Amino acid sequence: ASGYTLLRDPRHNKGLAFTENERDAHYLRGLLPPALMTQELQEKKLMHNLRQYEVPLQRYMALTELQERNERLFYKLLIDNVEELLPIVYTPTVGEACQKFGSIFRRPQGLYISLKEKGKILEVLKNWPVRTVQVIVVTDGERILGLGDLGCQGMGIPVGKLSLYTALGGLRPSACLPVTIDVGTNNEKLLDNEFYIGLRQKRTRGKEYEDLLEEFMSAVKQNYGEKVIVQFEDFANHNAFELLAKYRASHLVFNDDIQGTASVVLAGLLAALKLVGGALADHRFLFLGAGEAGTGIAELIALEISKQTKAPLEETRKKIWLVDSKGLIVSSRRESLQHFKKPWAHDHEPVKGLLDAVKAIKPTVLIGSSGVGKTFTKEKPLILALSNPTSQSECTAEEAYTWSKGRAIFASGSPFDPVEYNRKVFVPGQANNAYIFPGFGLGLIMSGAIRVHDDMLLAASEALAAQVKQENFDKGLIYPPFSNIRNISANIAAKVAAKAYELGLASRLPRPKDLVKYAESCMYSPIYRSYR
Ligand code: NAP
Ligand code: MN
Repeated sequence: ASGYTLLRDPRHNKGLAFTENERDAHYLRGLLPPALMTQELQEKKLMHNLRQYEVPLQRYMALTELQERNERLFYKLLIDNVEELLPIVYTPTVGEACQKFGSIFRRPQGLYISLKEKGKILEVLKNWPVRTVQVIVVTDGERILGLGDLGCQGMGIPVGKLSLYTALGGLRPSACLPVTIDVGTNNEKLLDNEFYIGLRQKRTRGKEYEDLLEEFMSAVKQNYGEKVIVQFEDFANHNAFELLAKYRASHLVFNDDIQGTASVVLAGLLAALKLVGGALADHRFLFLGAGEAGTGIAELIALEISKQTKAPLEETRKKIWLVDSKGLIVSSRRESLQHFKKPWAHDHEPVKGLLDAVKAIKPTVLIGSSGVGKTFTKEKPLILALSNPTSQSECTAEEAYTWSKGRAIFASGSPFDPVEYNRKVFVPGQANNAYIFPGFGLGLIMSGAIRVHDDMLLAASEALAAQVKQENFDKGLIYPPFSNIRNISANIAAKVAAKAYELGLASRLPRPKDLVKYAESCMYSPIYRSYR
């Protein structure tokens, strides 16, 4: 290949880091200025440049541009500066990027599959330059973070999630495929926006939708085999639960909003118990929000309590209460409830809002909630405000600490800065599924798992909880810092893989002896290769 092409190939470009020998051997002479730079120096320069931008969206665009210019440098930056850059490539900034995707759009990333491609999805997959895909993150853009229907512009989410698969979980970038399925949008603002990049029509529902998804799922299996992970991301709940139920028996599917969130929250709870004492079964849980995240977490908590106490699921579920937009979910509402809420319709008189629900249920753990910290007076309350991005968080870190007079253990979906209260500094943790899915996916891939089992989610939770160190607890944290995430991911991957072997769902044989070491050895390194 010509040197000119090499410089424009993000997977191989090294810019000024091409050595003298490489410049000779690959026809690069004259195409680069004479200076040589190490990858470290390039990284230093880029971080310096990035920090010049005060608007987060500009940083996002600069990083996207880097990803398309020099992939290894992009990942080196992300890995070495994960705490600083996560809020840019991921929540909250990725949310803003999706909202403005049409106007900042330069070059397409990932695969767009719209109704126009109906009947041709296999051909579309074949247009993608890589055949050995290991993980697909797919959205239909209907519930992007807490920002609602962003249609085709939801593509920012699969792209961002897969960047984390590589940076945090060590999957090769070439093994990652972001997909957006465009069946229209009901977002009037986007439909009226001249820069909108998607189909200009209302969302298709029912059979036409199901058929397109079915064609996609079959084409994926046909093209990439049985062991490709399909991660459903940010689908609206009326489709999410059904897609997961439909494909979990035939494909290696995983819904991050339902299952990944559940696993990360359970991990936080298991860790928190070490801080506050007692068992999971001693607590009473109240959720504000009974959708994918809420009922997904609730179910995994109930499952874990049931494993710990040997009590049947029907019993352990009764420790968990959920509030939706119509109030507390109770048995008198059962008839009219969506099916995923029915298991949570316990006997109780109707209760309207969250405040009254808190008074009635007296929870010790409040998840995705706001405005009621001061009703917790006895125990240390645990408050998890999960909604993303920051603008949708049920309460701020400052509110949680002030309302609880500094007693709360608080974590949020999007990051908050440390808060000073009563001359003490509180560092809020981030309860985000980014802790789980990269390591979880690595565990599936390294074991050659063919199906996802709930026990793997429990294993991932326990692995993450075990990574919280005393020094983290001392700061009131129930999650370890992201700076150590690759190590954390390797440990999660090992536990998930071990479970896959135990359940007979692993196809990679023989089983490696030391699974943590093996996980580490599988992880992608962003260090430049030398070309001979
Ligand atoms: P979802 O399936 O649409 O569920 C939202 C739930 O909230 C529904 O039950 C809805 O009630 C309820 N709700 C909405 N407004 C309400 C109100 N004013 N009062 C009471 N309940 C209300 O969404 P989801 O997938 O669960 O996601 C919810 C949020 O969690 C999003 O912001 C998302 O970004 C965030 N999330 C965070 C993480 C993380 O890792 N931190 C992971 C996944 C999701 P109805 O059912 O009555 O409509
Ligand atoms: Mn999501």
